[in-house]
Amino acid sequence: MYPLTLESLNKEIINCTKCTRLVNFRKKISKNKRKEYVNEDYWGRPITGFGDKKGRILIVGLAPAAHGGTRTGRVFTGDKSSEFLYQCLYEANISNQPYSISKNDGLKLKDSYITTALKCVPPEDKPTSIELKTCSKYFENELILLKKSIFIVALGKIAFEATVKYYIENYGKFKKKPQFTHGSSHNLPDGKSLIGCYHPSPRNVNTGRLNKKMMVDLFKNIRK
Ligand code: SF4
Repeated sequence: MYPLTLESLNKEIINCTKCTRLVNFRKKISKNKRKEYVNEDYWGRPITGFGDKKGRILIVGLAPAAHGGTRTGRVFTGDKSSEFLYQCLYEANISNQPYSISKNDGLKLKDSYITTALKCVPPEDKPTSIELKTCSKYFENELILLKKSIFIVALGKIAFEATVKYYIENYGKFKKKPQFTHGSSHNLPDGKSLIGCYHPSPRNVNTGRLNKKMMVDLFKNIRK
């Protein structure tokens, strides 16, 4: 039986200690801190989703960043990936401001909700398959509870695969299994669409694999 509301699910998430390696890692980050944030209290717990729970767009990332979400307590907040992402979301008229720096910065998402497949930061951004499996229950419950979402935008391959896995387990195999590519759109068995998008990480942005126009165009198309 899954939680009946997003609020009760989120309460369960922020108190979760199921993955020993990740619990130890988030504690270590919160204690050691990055030099520029040494005077801040790190959130240091799992991160829930954020935004309009009745939104038609669901954006899914991999996991909170070490000195972003794990520090600020809000998904895609206060790190380089979020800096790029929100410039694009603002241009595509999905957020009310082009930055996401702290929980009380006034950020609002329009018709959209944003979350991650894994709720705790993994060392080197590499979760184990067991950690992904253990945490998948939370993401799958979000997919169930966010009933109005009709476009699921997966930022990166891991988020994409986590979504595909949910649909295979609950609706059976696809005739042709969706493959992750930037901008590809796949019909899901419940009538929703899964859209692949490169993750807005500095690695992708600095190498030119992903640029602002690519991401803005993708979100503008969805808004249309
Ligand atoms: S990754 Fe998920 S399952 Fe593991 S401790 Fe964090 S919230 Fe719990």
